[in-house]
Amino acid sequence: MSFTLAIVGRPNVGKSTLFNRLVGKRLALVDDQPGVTRDLREGAARLGQLRFTVIDTAGLEEATDESLPGRMRALTERAVAEADLCLFVIDARTGVTQPDMVFADILRKRADGRVILAANKAEGNAGDAGYYEAYTLGLGEPIPISAEHGEGMDDLRAALEPWAEQFDAREAVTELEEGEEAPDRPLQIAVVGRPNAGKSTLINKILGEDRLLTGPEAGITRDSIAVPVRWGERDFRIFDTAGMRKRAKVQEKLEKLSVSDGLRAVKFAEVVVVVLDTSIPFESQDLRIADLAEREGRAVVFAANKWDAEEHRAERLASMKEQLARLLPQLSGAPLVTVSALTGRGLDRLREAITSAHDVWNRRVPTGRLNQWLADQTSSHPPPAPGGRRIRLRYMTQAKTRPPTFIVFASLPEDLPASYKRFLVNGLRRDFDLPGTPIRLEFRKRD
Ligand code: GDP
Ligand code: GDP
Repeated sequence: MSFTLAIVGRPNVGKSTLFNRLVGKRLALVDDQPGVTRDLREGAARLGQLRFTVIDTAGLEEATDESLPGRMRALTERAVAEADLCLFVIDARTGVTQPDMVFADILRKRADGRVILAANKAEGNAGDAGYYEAYTLGLGEPIPISAEHGEGMDDLRAALEPWAEQFDAREAVTELEEGEEAPDRPLQIAVVGRPNAGKSTLINKILGEDRLLTGPEAGITRDSIAVPVRWGERDFRIFDTAGMRKRAKVQEKLEKLSVSDGLRAVKFAEVVVVVLDTSIPFESQDLRIADLAEREGRAVVFAANKWDAEEHRAERLASMKEQLARLLPQLSGAPLVTVSALTGRGLDRLREAITSAHDVWNRRVPTGRLNQWLADQTSSHPPPAPGGRRIRLRYMTQAKTRPPTFIVFASLPEDLPASYKRFLVNGLRRDFDLPGTPIRLEFRKRD
């Protein structure tokens, strides 16, 4: 299965160099039919076992460091729209510049989280400062590469892999929505959490004793990051951060990879299982990863692990529920399941919580019901009238699932206060039974 990757970024960061490295001699498609000019160069790329199409936006226009010509912006936006995934390249030697921030902004608005960040020219140490600066773009963990010297290509491939698998999954969903026979697709989960929360123990328990992850000799290839398992009546694929850690050790890049474990795992997953250590739940790391999962639009289930060792269960459970509601309101109602990875207790309930969170994440609310609901909400709790101008909410529809995404057409969407948006989101969650999934609500102007 193939996907399309767009390489974007300001001039001179090394996009063409990277394009040439990925495409090698396989440069396809120089369309020299008269009258056809292609402004986006396209090629068949290969990276390890991965095959994909790459779109290059380089050489479109000379831009100065202060400005970004409109044409370049338009073409970048088009490449982003055409591609499944964007590789945003910055120059680690120069660090983050103003034009980089403009591109980052385009990607945040247009790419819907489908972005991998690469800090190029990172050979030697000259790129270290720029590499760390790249975090400030808010596009996740940068991957240090050197397009010219071919360094970091393994890491780049590892970052692309979960996406490659996800596009497989996406196609299946489209088929499903078109009413064709649904293939029995494995449910993709990531098990995340802070060190020592019990992730490895949990995964191994799910996999069964005979399938302990001990490395390549156990039949798991070095490249394997997703472990298939039949759990209960259903196929799952577990994104295994423990396995990645082992691989990282091999590559002596433990430090760097373990930081990105969580992020990668979250991007891969449909449902993110946040493993908590019951004796110290909802510490800052737990909150950060759960928030990340929400922002990436994933369904979230909490597994309160080491329940076997908890002495004051009733008090503990009450306080964890209170913490969850208070510290992560954006994941209101997310399931919290007490488990013992060590003994296996609670794992059936965990599995049920995962499948039902997945169902909620995939849920589609019929437009008729939504609009009946919207009419009820606006009549019982009308939107405010800033400056005497009444905001009318005319119509709404669910544009997407995974996660549920709604669009509301409104007369003055930009004037609608955040509190009213929250009121609508909370109402949707309550009235359409959407616990534990991110809910996206977008507004469009319609007079
Ligand atoms: P583009 O405008 O983004 O397509 O950038 P190019 O691919 O044309 O590269 C711009 C300049 O950066 C060229 O001089 C490249 O040789 C240089 N360059 C590209 N990749 C690297 C790299 O990994 N390390 C170093 N030091 N220079 C690079
Ligand atoms: P990871 O770093 O999140 O992968 O954590 P591990 O799976 O390596 O577990 C860390 C430690 O917690 C180990 O000593 C485990 O034996 C212990 N542990 C894991 N799950 C449980 C559990 O359910 N109950 C108890 N009592 N200990 C557990």
